[in-house]
Amino acid sequence: MCAYSLRKSVILAPAFSDPFLRVITRSRGQISRMATSFASCDACEETEAALPRKGKGFIDIGANLLDPMYTGLYFGGTKKRHEPDLDLVLKRSFCANPPVIAEKDGPDVKIDHSILESLFITAGTIDEGVESLALARKLNSEFPRAGVVGDSVPLKRFYSTIGIHPTRCAQELGIKSTDDEESIPLSALDTLKKKILDVANDGRTDNVIIAIGECGLDYEREQFCHRAVQRAGFLVHLDVAEQTCLPLFLHNRNTGRDLYDILKENCEKLKSGGVVHSFDDTFELAKDFIDLGLYIGLNGCSLRTQENLNVIRRLPLDRILIETDCPWCEVKPSHAGFEHVKTKFETRKDKKFEPGCCVKGRNEPCHIIHVAEIIAGVRGISITELTDACYENTIRLFGQSMNTL
Ligand SMILES: [Zn+2]
Repeated sequence: MCAYSLRKSVILAPAFSDPFLRVITRSRGQISRMATSFASCDACEETEAALPRKGKGFIDIGANLLDPMYTGLYFGGTKKRHEPDLDLVLKRSFCANPPVIAEKDGPDVKIDHSILESLFITAGTIDEGVESLALARKLNSEFPRAGVVGDSVPLKRFYSTIGIHPTRCAQELGIKSTDDEESIPLSALDTLKKKILDVANDGRTDNVIIAIGECGLDYEREQFCHRAVQRAGFLVHLDVAEQTCLPLFLHNRNTGRDLYDILKENCEKLKSGGVVHSFDDTFELAKDFIDLGLYIGLNGCSLRTQENLNVIRRLPLDRILIETDCPWCEVKPSHAGFEHVKTKFETRKDKKFEPGCCVKGRNEPCHIIHVAEIIAGVRGISITELTDACYENTIRLFGQSMNTL
């Protein structure tokens, strides 16, 4: 069992961005169309930023913004189904006119807990890490958070991870997949470690790289990389996390207790903690990860079945982080928790693409509210209570690397 001293979180007042959203809300069985604004709203930024805020916004800890779906290419295809629209996707994610279930707490206090404050761009290869670091830096200049009173060290809008997805380890090591861990050249592992460290150290200079990952084990897709190579690659990340004092962004798919066992054997390397993202396993395994000092990341894939919901009901609130894992892992009507979804965004099929609308089947950061609605609904708490907790949990885990603590 490892014990960690994590510094206490500070409460940051979030800022606002321009309104850009088409949303339909479902409240008490009624569908009502919300106002759509495509104009930038300077007045909104000036006046709302000065208002006291009760709720805190979302921080999406996992968004694959480099995915070709945001350029109009789907599932490996080469024919563009629509024009690139990442800028529009981001504008509606950071919209300051949140929809819907925003409660009012007096005439002047807007509890806009549905605003996305920040997101982490996740990387799965060295090249992706370099690209996502550059993208995060570029977007931070294009979508700055406005300065907010009391926000002395403001969050950035965008952060990035650096690491190798378990299914890409053989490719990034430059070797053939093998079941013989001993045969993997140490020089290849050293080279990979140096490459990850180089990107991490670059991203530390302005606190944009905030985690090592995504890394871990994936036994559902061993056709891309055998578990022996995945394991060797994962051990490299544990060294890097220890060396850089960065938290781990962990991927764990269908590995039984293997990932847990490796983490437990190496618990001295977990000083900066981490999150097991996209968690869809048992409560017992979640509890074991939590006992190692880790957090549990939840997205649409964590909310598919009644068993999933039973796990989510029992997780300690101070260990939950939320994410979209977009463009994947969206909440679907077939999901067990779908009845709790209240917010509906205007959506078109990719063939009938319309700027400003979501695309059917493509997850986006703005959909993080669906994850929150289901978790809050299942646990019988308000969205505000859930988002406040997740916000503070995120700052507690990543605040050091964001340089906000
Ligand atoms: Zn993952």
